[in-house]
Amino acid sequence: QTLPGDGDFYQLTSLLSAEDQQILARVREFMETQVAPIINDYWVRAAFPFDLIPGIRDLNVAGLSYQGYGCAGKSALLDGFLSMEMARVDPSIATFFGVHSGLAMGSIYLCGSEDQKQRWLPPMARFETIGAFGLTEPDVGSGVAGGLATTARREGDTWVLNGQKKWIGNATFADITIIWARDEADGQVKGFIVEKGTPGFATEKLEDKIALRVVQNALITLTDCRVDDEHRLKNARTFRDTAAVLRMTRAGVAWQAVGCARGAYENALAYAKTRQQFGRPIGRFQLVQDLLVRMLGNITASACMVAQLSQMQDAGRMSDEHASLAKAFCTVRMRETVGYARELMGGNGILLEHNVGRFVADAEAIYSYEGTREINSLIVGRAITGFSAFV
Ligand code: FAD
Repeated sequence: QTLPGDGDFYQLTSLLSAEDQQILARVREFMETQVAPIINDYWVRAAFPFDLIPGIRDLNVAGLSYQGYGCAGKSALLDGFLSMEMARVDPSIATFFGVHSGLAMGSIYLCGSEDQKQRWLPPMARFETIGAFGLTEPDVGSGVAGGLATTARREGDTWVLNGQKKWIGNATFADITIIWARDEADGQVKGFIVEKGTPGFATEKLEDKIALRVVQNALITLTDCRVDDEHRLKNARTFRDTAAVLRMTRAGVAWQAVGCARGAYENALAYAKTRQQFGRPIGRFQLVQDLLVRMLGNITASACMVAQLSQMQDAGRMSDEHASLAKAFCTVRMRETVGYARELMGGNGILLEHNVGRFVADAEAIYSYEGTREINSLIVGRAITGFSAFV
């Protein structure tokens, strides 16, 4: 028995156990009853609904696929469905959650020592400690692997961080931010847990975004910001370790793209059944049905792709290029799908009250973050040809 929902045409939810479907059903109920009614208002004001955090905490899904440390130890497949369910109602909340649970907790889970995991992950699983992830810089986005300019200098048991980070989601209020910086001594990228209030760590909210307006993105300035060696992620030794975090979270973003497309499609389908023109519902017109079927085809193909991707992840067989292909493909399909949904709704498609306009705008950010289409394509291209186009 799959969850109800018009967009799960091939009943992919049936890949999950009954118990896991119940977890997903709780998430769906929360998103539909607590988030959907208020989110357009927050989107307009570019404000974050902090009052939702206790409800999100009670879902008990942070770090859903991590074993131990207060996390549920479920499958990557369920974690993927979770990202989709959140984005299906609101991509901003899905992004807030993805940054905390995927990027920030994931950095500690994959790159932290046993002590660091014991210390930081349980309070993060309970949302007592909220995380952010600072990799991108004002002058370095796609080229972070070789071009990261933020520096880390060791002085005894202390590290001194200097530089800037741009676009960092949750960072205006996060309790900890993972800062990726280049070690001045060996030139390698290392990760540091920087706590809110650390002297030399300053955030400034990025204003006037036209996408994911609920997400609080920051410009971070690090000025001789000192952290002790206990705050250095012990198993982040080179950029390869950072890339392992991105591999996992890129799969999650591909799922978000399916959710964003599905939310737009389901809104458009409901509209097509009720909106009347020429004395009949517009869903009766062949050209409108064609739009709906194009959308459903995109969503179904993308959902099948990410479901298999996550099953490969669960089997330990997902590589960088597998995740990159899904991120690139699903975000292209998402962008086309939300455009069709907007088109189907005529003028109402650009009114926020009909939701689809929010999906159209938010899709633009999902399309570019966690590696643009070009960069993810080049990762796949390198794997299939054996030639790196990066150099
Ligand atoms: P650029 O790298 O300047 O790219 C510009 C264009 O050039 C793109 O089209 C790109 O594909 C193209 N291009 C670049 N190099 C090549 C090449 N070799 N070949 C072909 N084309 C190329 N970062 C974080 O660290 N933490 C966050 O929490 C975070 N959240 C974000 C939230 C939002 C809403 C957004 C928009 C971004 C966020 N980012 C975050 C940053 C995001 O990951 C970057 O925007 C992304 O990696 C692209 O970098 P850029 O914007 O600097 O674009």
